[in-house]
Amino acid sequence: MMVKHVFSFLEGDGKNKKLLGGKGANLCEMTQIGLNVPPGFVISTEACVQYLEAPNGELPEGLLDAVKVHMADIERATGKKFGDPDNPLLVSVRSGSAMSMPGMMDTVLNLGLNSQTLHGLIRQTSNERFAYDAYRRFIQIFGKVAMGIPDQYFDETLDAIKVRAGAISDVDLTIEDLKEIVELFHNVVEEQKFRPFPEDVWEQLNIAIKAVFNSWSGKRAVDYRKQFNITLDQANGTAVSIVAMVFGNMGNDSGTGVGFTRDPATGENKMFGEYLVNAQGEDVVAGIRTPRPIQAMAQEMPDLYHQLEELRDRLEKHYREVQDFEFTIEKGILYCLQTRNGKMNATAMVRTSVEMVNEGLLTKPEGLLRINPEHLEQLLYPGLDPNFKAEPLSQGLPASPGAASGKCIFDADSAERIGRAGQKVILVREETKPEDIHGFFASQGILTSRGGKTSHAAVVARGMGKPCVAGAEGIHVDTEHRLAIVGDRVLHEGDIITIDGGTGNVYLGEIPTIEPEFSSYLHTLLDWADESAKLGVMANADTPEAAEKARNYGAVGIGLCRTERMFNAVDRLPLVIDMILADTVEQRKEALNRLLPIQRSDFSGILKAMAPYPVTVRLLDPPIHEFLPSEGELEVQIEDLRRLHDTARLTEKNVESLKLIDPMLHSNYMAQRQGLPAFFASLDLTLIDAALAKKELMLQRARILKEVNPMLGHRGVRLAVSFPEIYEMQIRAILEAAADCIKEGIEVHPEIMVPQVCSVLELEYVQKIIDQVKKEVEESHGVEVNFKFGSMVEVVRACITADELAGASEFFSFGTNDLTQATFSFSREDAENKFLPYYQQQNILPENPFESLDVKGVGNLMKLAVKGGRSVRPDLKIGICGEHGGHPASIRFCHHAGLDYVSCSGPRVPIARLAAAHATMLEKSYDK
Ligand code: PEP
Ligand code: MG
Repeated sequence: MMVKHVFSFLEGDGKNKKLLGGKGANLCEMTQIGLNVPPGFVISTEACVQYLEAPNGELPEGLLDAVKVHMADIERATGKKFGDPDNPLLVSVRSGSAMSMPGMMDTVLNLGLNSQTLHGLIRQTSNERFAYDAYRRFIQIFGKVAMGIPDQYFDETLDAIKVRAGAISDVDLTIEDLKEIVELFHNVVEEQKFRPFPEDVWEQLNIAIKAVFNSWSGKRAVDYRKQFNITLDQANGTAVSIVAMVFGNMGNDSGTGVGFTRDPATGENKMFGEYLVNAQGEDVVAGIRTPRPIQAMAQEMPDLYHQLEELRDRLEKHYREVQDFEFTIEKGILYCLQTRNGKMNATAMVRTSVEMVNEGLLTKPEGLLRINPEHLEQLLYPGLDPNFKAEPLSQGLPASPGAASGKCIFDADSAERIGRAGQKVILVREETKPEDIHGFFASQGILTSRGGKTSHAAVVARGMGKPCVAGAEGIHVDTEHRLAIVGDRVLHEGDIITIDGGTGNVYLGEIPTIEPEFSSYLHTLLDWADESAKLGVMANADTPEAAEKARNYGAVGIGLCRTERMFNAVDRLPLVIDMILADTVEQRKEALNRLLPIQRSDFSGILKAMAPYPVTVRLLDPPIHEFLPSEGELEVQIEDLRRLHDTARLTEKNVESLKLIDPMLHSNYMAQRQGLPAFFASLDLTLIDAALAKKELMLQRARILKEVNPMLGHRGVRLAVSFPEIYEMQIRAILEAAADCIKEGIEVHPEIMVPQVCSVLELEYVQKIIDQVKKEVEESHGVEVNFKFGSMVEVVRACITADELAGASEFFSFGTNDLTQATFSFSREDAENKFLPYYQQQNILPENPFESLDVKGVGNLMKLAVKGGRSVRPDLKIGICGEHGGHPASIRFCHHAGLDYVSCSGPRVPIARLAAAHATMLEKSYDK
C-alpha cells in the first residue's frame, strides 16, 4: 500500500508535528478550530526523508499526483485555477520541521506566476502595480531558493533601478520600474542558469517542493541543529505546506504583520507586534521597511484591530501558550497564516508563567515546567552600571536584553573566526539574514541599523538570549569598507563598542556591567518551585558577602564553605606561610594561633549571614604547598633580591618592583624611608638579608613538599593525620564563632565536614580532636554548642565503605568533582582542555562528565553510598556539593538517588530551585 504523504488542512493531525512539521500541524489545527486560514495542504516530513534518501533525486512515487488532487481542492475552495491566465491561483510553498528553526529553511511565495498568469492577476485585482510587484518578488525568491542564484544579482539590479528612479524604498517604484525589473530579473536567470525562468506552473511547483526539501540539509539548517542539539529523534526532515496566497499589498485596506500574544521581551500581557499597510510579510521580517507598532492599528484600522484581539484570545485559549503569529489582511479580510509557541527571553517566560497561572490558563506545574531551568541564567545577565555615565553613540530598538561589549565586526564569517579565537565580538550589520547565523553564535551581541523588533536579528538573538540592538538608523554600516559612520564619527572594524539590549543604546568603548535584580515574578515562580521541590538548595559560598548573595538567590544554607579560600586572602597568606615554614609543632601552633582569630571572625560572619540556616564548613583540603609560590617563581624572586642586595640603593622603579618581589619587604622599607625620596633612601641590608633567608626557606620547603600528583596527594584529612593542629585550630575557630553567636542570641547551625575521607578511622580520628575542642570551648564560653559532623564522599573507597562511614557521620556530601576524577581516572585539571573535547566529538562521551553527572559510573557509586549510609543511619542527611549540584539533569538524578539537598554556586541557586521542582514533577517519567 502506498503511504499517505499529503494531508489537507482539514484532515491533518494538528498534534503530529513530527509528521507535518510545526507549521503544517498548526495550519491544520488552526483550520480545524475555525480560524480564518487560507486553504492548503501539507506534504509530510516522511516524504522529505524519502526524497533526500532517493538515489535518483526524484520525489516519492505518486506524490505529485496527490499534490494535484489537493491543488484541485484549493482551486475549488478559492474559485481560482492554478496556471489559469484569467483567474490564476497562486500558492506559497513553506518549510517547517518538528522543531522550530526560524528562518533556517526556505519558503517560496507567489508561486504560479508566469507571463500569462500575471495578466490574470492584474485582471483579478485591477492592480497592475501590485501584480508586477508580486511577480518580481517571485522571480527573485524562486531564483534564489529553487534555482540557486545568489540574492546579490537581483539586489544589484533592483538597487540600480531604485537609484535611477530616485526611489527610497520599494513602494516608491512605479509600474514602469517594476516592469523593467521583471525583465531584468528574467535576464539574470538566463545569464546565471542558461535557461529561461520556468513558465510551466507545475514545473515551478515540482522544483519548489524539492528546493524546500533540500533546505533541510542546507548549511544554515545543519549548523542550527548542531548548535541547538536537535537530534533526528526530535525532527527528521521538513514538511512542505502549500497554501493559497493572500496578499497584504493590495492597497490601503490590506497589510501584513507579525504578532506575539504577549510582549516577548517583558512578558507583559499586552499584544505585541508590528505591521505594515500595503506590504508583504517578508517586508516586515527583512526590515526593508520599518513597521509600525501593532497598537497603532487600533486607530488606523479599528475594526481589524478588534478582530486581531479576538484572534489573539482564541490562540492563547486554545494553545495555552504565548503564540507568535503571522497575519495578512487582504482587502479588509484578516487571515492567520501561521502560529507557533513564542520564543521569549527568560524575563518574559517567568512573567508569563506567573500571570498565566494567576489567570487560570495554566496550572502551577505547567507554569513551572514550561521554563527550562538553564534559561533562567539569562536573568543573571549583567546590565550596564548606572553609576557609569556615558553618552550613547547612537540608539536603536531594545530588541533582546542584556549588555555586552566587544570589537565591532562587520560580517558573520569574520565574527565567527575572531569570536572563536577567544575575542569578544559584536556583530554589526545593516540587517541580518539567516545565513549569518554562525556569526551570531560567536558574538557577544548583535547590532543592526535596519529592521524592527521582529526582524531576523531580533528574533534570533532573543532565542539565543544574546543582547541585540536593532534598527539603529543613525548608524550607517559600510561593510565593503569595513566601517560604520555615526554622525561625524567613524567606527572602524575592531573598535570596541558596548550595546545595551535593554535600552537600545550603543556606546563607544567598554562600559562596566552590574548584576541584575530579581523581579517579583521570579520570586513568585521560585516560591512555587520550592513548594513542589523535595531537594533543598544550598549554596557553595566562602565569604559573608557570598553567603548574603546566596541567601538572596534563595539558598537555604551553605552546603560547602571552602576554608582554603580564606587562607589565600592577602592578609592571611603570610601567616599561612609561617605555618608551613614552621620546623616544630610549637612553631606551627604559634602561627596557627595568629590565624585563629581571623578564621573565627570569618566563620562568625558567615554563620550570621546565613542564620538560622546550616553552614557546612569544610576543613582544609588542598595540599599546603599550594599556598607557596612555585619553585620557579621563588627562584626568580631570590635572584632579584640578590641583585637588590648588591645595589642596595633604590630608584622609584625598583621600589615598585620590590612590591612584587616581596610585599613584606616593601612595606618594611616604606616604613623605614619615612617620606624620603627613594634616591636618598638606601635599603637596609639586614632587611634584604632577612627577606632572602625567608625566600630560601620557602624554596627549600616547596621542594620538599612538591608532589608528582598533588590531586591524589597530601591533602584533605591526610593533612590532619600529619598536622592535627591545623584542623584543631579550624575546629576551634568554628565552635568559638558559633558559641559567640549563641551568646548573642543568634540561632546558628554549623556543620563540620571532613574532605577526602577514605576510611571511617579517619573520621574517628578527627572526631577525637572535635570532642576535645568542644569540651574546651563549651567550658570557656559557658554555652553548649550543637553542630553536625559529617564526611565528604569524593573518594571511591568512601562510596564502597559508606556503611562504615555512616557510623561516624551525621551527613554525607558528595564531592562529585573529585569523585568524577577518581571514577574515570581523568585529571580534573587537565582533561577538559586536553582530550575531553575529542571524546565529545567522537561521541565516546557525548557530555563532559565534569559538567553533567555521569549517571552510569559516578551515579552508581553515589547510589551505592546512599544505600550503604542509610542502611546504618536511616536519617543520614545526604547532599552534593560538586559542580553538578547546579546542573539541571544532574539535579534530576540526585532527586532520584534520594539525596536531601544540592549545593551549588550562588547564581545557579535559582536554576537549581527550578530544576529541583522539575525533578519532583517529572518523577514518573524519569528514565532510570
Ligand atoms: C568536589 O570534589 O566535588 C568538591 C566539592 O570539592 P573541591 O572541588 O573543592 O575539591
Ligand atoms: Mg573535592
